[in-house]
Amino acid sequence: MARQPIVQGDPPGDEDKKRDAALRPRLLREVIGQHSVKQRLEILLRAAKKLKEPLSHMLFDGPPGLGKTTFATVLPNELGTSIQMTSGPALTKPADLLPFLTNVTDGSILFIDEIHRMPRVVEEFIYPAMEDFRIDIVLGEGINARTLSMPLKRFTLIGATTRSGMLSGPMRDRFKIHEHLDYYTVDELAQIVTINAKKLTTPITPDAAGEIAGRSRGTPRIANSRLWWARSYSASEHDGTIDLATAQAALKMAEVDLLGLDKQDRRYLETIISVFEGGPTGVEALAATMNLSTDTLSDEIEPYLLREQMIVRTPRGRMATQKAYAHLGKAWKSSDEGPQGVLFS
Ligand code: ADP
Repeated sequence: MARQPIVQGDPPGDEDKKRDAALRPRLLREVIGQHSVKQRLEILLRAAKKLKEPLSHMLFDGPPGLGKTTFATVLPNELGTSIQMTSGPALTKPADLLPFLTNVTDGSILFIDEIHRMPRVVEEFIYPAMEDFRIDIVLGEGINARTLSMPLKRFTLIGATTRSGMLSGPMRDRFKIHEHLDYYTVDELAQIVTINAKKLTTPITPDAAGEIAGRSRGTPRIANSRLWWARSYSASEHDGTIDLATAQAALKMAEVDLLGLDKQDRRYLETIISVFEGGPTGVEALAATMNLSTDTLSDEIEPYLLREQMIVRTPRGRMATQKAYAHLGKAWKSSDEGPQGVLFS
C-alpha cells in the first residue's frame, strides 16, 4: 500500500484547488484517461524502483485543470516518497528555493507549478541542482566573494506549465521527460464525475454524469466544480440525488450552456463579435476591453475555444469563426439572417 505523501510548502490555495485536492486520485491506476502518458510513467516508475534511482526530472504541460498536479502527486505515492510543492511566482529569489532544496531527500519530489513564471535568476540557481545535485552559494560581495558548493540529495524536479513555450531553452532541456496533457473525452470525464460523486456520497445517474461531463470543456477540474454545484443544487432544490433533469437545471442556473461554455467564455466571444466586428484583434485589446488579464484569456479561456474552433488565431490576431456566431445566434458577417443560437436546454 502506497504511503500518503508528505506535502510541504505552499500548495496553491483557492477553494477550487482545495476541493481538487480532496478529489484527486492517489495512485496511477486511479487516474482516468491520458493512457499513453500513464504507460510511459509506469515504465519510469518500474525502472526507478529496479535501478534504485530517482525519477528523471519531468515537465508536464497543458491547459489548467487537466491533471498536471495530479500526476505529480501520484508519483510519490507510487514510490512511497515525499513531495514538496511550490510555484514559480512564489520563488522570487534564489534564497526562496533554499528551504526546499535543503529539505529534499533521496528520491523525493520537488514540484514547481507555473514554472514558466520563475524568474531567470532562480532558474539559473536551480540548473546545477538539477544536473549535478548541488547548489552554488555566493558568500560575501565584490573581491571577497567566494562560492560555496553544497551537495544535495538526489531528488526529482517536476515542473508544471500552461505555457511550455515561455520556458527558456536551457530550462526545458534539463527536463529529460516532457509530457503534454490534452483535453479529455466526454466518456473519460463521465467516469471522473461518477467516481467523484461516489467519493462525495452523492447518488448520480449515468445520464446525469454524461450531461455534466459533456458540458465541462474537456477538463476534469471543471467537471469537478460542475459536479459540486449540481450536488449543492440538488441538496437545496431536490432530494440530494443528481438525475438528468436536476443536472440540466443546475447547469442552466449556473449559466453553463449546451457546449459547456460559461458566462466568461460567451463574454469573450461577444466582445470579439460586437466590439471588434469578429476580429482580427490582439489579445491585449480584448483583455483591456473585458477588464481581464491577458494570462486569463490565453491560459484559461482561449485554449478550449480554439480547440472547439470558435475562434482562430491569425498573424493579425484572434478571429471569431462562423461557429461562434452561430452559437451566440448572431448574423454571420454580411448575411442578414443569423441562425438561432441554442445556448441552453
Ligand atoms: P492542473 O495541475 O493541470 O491544473 P489538477 O491536477 O489540479 O490540474 O487537476 C484538477 C482536478 O481534476 C484534480 O484534483 C482531480 O480531481 C481531477 N483530475 C485531473 N486529472 C484527472 C485524471 N486524469 N483522472 C481523474 N481525475 C483527474
